[in-house]
Amino acid sequence: MPYRPTIGMEVHAQLLTRSKMFCGCSADYWAAPPNSQVCPVDLGLPGALPVINARAVEATVLTGLALNCEIASVTRFDRKNYPYPDLPKGYQISQYELPLCRNGWLEIEVDGERRRIRIRRVHLEEDTAKLTHVEGCSLLDFNRAGVPLMEIVSEPDMHSVDEVREYVTQLRSVLRYLGVNSGDMEKGAMRFEVNVSVAREGERGTKVEIKNLNSFRAVTRSLEYEIARQTRILERGGHVEQVTMGWDEDRELTFEQRSKEEAPDYRYFPDPDLPPLTLDPAWVDGLRARLPELPRAKAERYQREYGLSAYDAGVLTAERAVAEFFEAAVAAAPAGVDAKMISNWLTGELFRLMRARERSIEQVPITPRDLVALLEMVAAGRLTGASGKEVLEEMFVTGRPPAEVVAARGLAQISDEAALRPVVEKVLEENPGPLAELLAGKEPVLRFLMGQVMRATRGQANPQLAQRLLQEAAERRRRAS
Ligand code: MN
Repeated sequence: MPYRPTIGMEVHAQLLTRSKMFCGCSADYWAAPPNSQVCPVDLGLPGALPVINARAVEATVLTGLALNCEIASVTRFDRKNYPYPDLPKGYQISQYELPLCRNGWLEIEVDGERRRIRIRRVHLEEDTAKLTHVEGCSLLDFNRAGVPLMEIVSEPDMHSVDEVREYVTQLRSVLRYLGVNSGDMEKGAMRFEVNVSVAREGERGTKVEIKNLNSFRAVTRSLEYEIARQTRILERGGHVEQVTMGWDEDRELTFEQRSKEEAPDYRYFPDPDLPPLTLDPAWVDGLRARLPELPRAKAERYQREYGLSAYDAGVLTAERAVAEFFEAAVAAAPAGVDAKMISNWLTGELFRLMRARERSIEQVPITPRDLVALLEMVAAGRLTGASGKEVLEEMFVTGRPPAEVVAARGLAQISDEAALRPVVEKVLEENPGPLAELLAGKEPVLRFLMGQVMRATRGQANPQLAQRLLQEAAERRRRAS
């Protein structure tokens, strides 16, 4: 029987609050000069007293509700003691026995199979200072110290790297929908730890933790590496040590950080400076009522209501702003423009432009109304598909409405017989050879002549009309001869 991995995850997510977890310093530290956003509380100076950030509690409960968790009626903050230079107090304020949320789940879908990954707990804590090691010394920036940090712990319910990738992707999407986390991994807003054991089905493996993973890629690459490493050991009849690993990003391998014997004892105890919190059920219900429609529910609705494929629905709902743009476009769509057409142009052309110019949908100056106005021209045959793409690009750059761009560029499709007939006649006169072939019944040459008409009109001829006029002109000549 083959070996299979069992994987659990811990995700640390910084909360998008204005101030830090226990003081009034700004939590938006990224662009600030080092150590410019600090005070006695986050520096851990003696006598400084922490105050709980209500918005951070709110964001954590909102997340717990979105992850189908039970919300605590009483919760508490604890001190997690360990010495490290990035922790000026010598302890981190975290939650131990009474986390804000527990016993939830997040649904994922891999290869058409839906699975619920159980969430053990979601708790609230504070981020540490940032250590930067340079040659000969280490630099400490306390701006990050005390930034609200949410920890989301899953049960070991995942059994493949694909499931893990889907889990973190879904989770990031949910957090961004809720507006509680930026999802910006390059700035460390989401950090990951995984635990993985490999065993034959029904047997128990040895759990190995991998810490300090800062991207989806680091998560999946380190898991692939670690699963292969454990499998190799087991196949040789060896036994896997219970250790904590780090991930070497450059060399792409895990390395041992500490063994089981060295596992730290954090001596958790309730923080005497902070009161236990009692959560009013009515307040929790108020937050529940504020939950937006979440990505997976939205994707299912798009498939049901608009007949979109699972793939397109997934692409449209991954980001809330994209989903909102799509829904606004559907709501504004005139007759002849359906959701499927909007989906195709949005995920095809518009996404292509966004990727090429590194823009997010928020930075695109096109309104949903202008997009469907453009699509209406294409659907009605007033604009060719190729011209439509050209117009969209100009709209993308300038934000001008489509009618204006079409007029300025003279792109309106030629659907007027009187205007197109002379062009067709001219093309036939200039191409006597192909015309003779056409008259001899060689239909394929029609495509060449169509191409000539398109060229003469810079792609603006209505293709159906051009084809009909060509055939009619040929028929007239056939009869005349
Ligand atoms: Mn933690």
